[in-house]
Amino acid sequence: MKIIRTINNLKKEIRQIKRKGLLIGFVPTMGALHEGHLSLMRQAQQETDIVIISIFVNPLQFGPKEDFKSYPRNLKSDARLARTAGVDIIFAPTVKEMYQSHFDTFVDMSQLTNKLCGKSRPGHFRGVMTVVTKLFNIVEPDIAYFGQKDYQQALIIKEMVRDLNMNLKIKILPTVREPDGLAMSSRNQYLTDSQHINANRLYQALLKARQLILDGENNCGKIHKTMVSIIRSIPQSKIDYIEIVDPETLEGLKKIKQLPILIALAVYLDKTRLIDNIIICK
Ligand code: AMP
Repeated sequence: MKIIRTINNLKKEIRQIKRKGLLIGFVPTMGALHEGHLSLMRQAQQETDIVIISIFVNPLQFGPKEDFKSYPRNLKSDARLARTAGVDIIFAPTVKEMYQSHFDTFVDMSQLTNKLCGKSRPGHFRGVMTVVTKLFNIVEPDIAYFGQKDYQQALIIKEMVRDLNMNLKIKILPTVREPDGLAMSSRNQYLTDSQHINANRLYQALLKARQLILDGENNCGKIHKTMVSIIRSIPQSKIDYIEIVDPETLEGLKKIKQLPILIALAVYLDKTRLIDNIIICK
């Protein structure tokens, strides 16, 4: 497994890989790797010839008051984990390498980016779309893998690839959870032990909503209310949003007329912002 720091060196490798006609699987990450990330890498390893991951904490997708500085960074242990998942190349550039001075080009979208997380994180998805476009141009993957955990992000990337005729396939894989149901996240490291234990109520609220819907409840206001009461029972919790939406447009629903629907939430436990979602199908 190689760790490559510069765009030029990675491009040299990519040229050789392409010359051999090998398929490239790509997993973009911000590091602090966990089983959720590794599940994407293992899938890439099964479906492609060369697995490349990026580890880059992208300043462009963090707001001024967010956790860019404190975001966990540990390339050594990430490299150990990536190796076990069959990764061939880690691309770990510096911020300077990715954003040369006078960097002034951005990729954006007008509808999906303003929904759900976009409302409380203005500019976030512009930062994600810009860095992912750059990474796709550098890595030239055949397939890129994303997690359902960040549903809105994956949907936006899929739409961007379609809208801009990018030459790759996007695959979205299921959310990997702790045994108690808490969605794995690099940000779970910020939680205290008791916050960690209580955080599984986010998933319990999603499961309760699913149960209500499958039992015939179609009034989104009522479902929302039940979820709020479960989540408010978590000490130090502050709800950013809980939304029941169309999974393609992310438009909010008042009544559930057909499935599938997406239920997505973002909740602060003290200063830590956690997100989760489920898709409810027939
Ligand atoms: P991040 O490092 O948080 O930017 O995530 C990198 C990729 O891993 C994204 O496509 C995420 O959606 C995905 N991911 C993060 N957490 C999980 C999880 N618990 N299960 C599945 N995929 C995940």
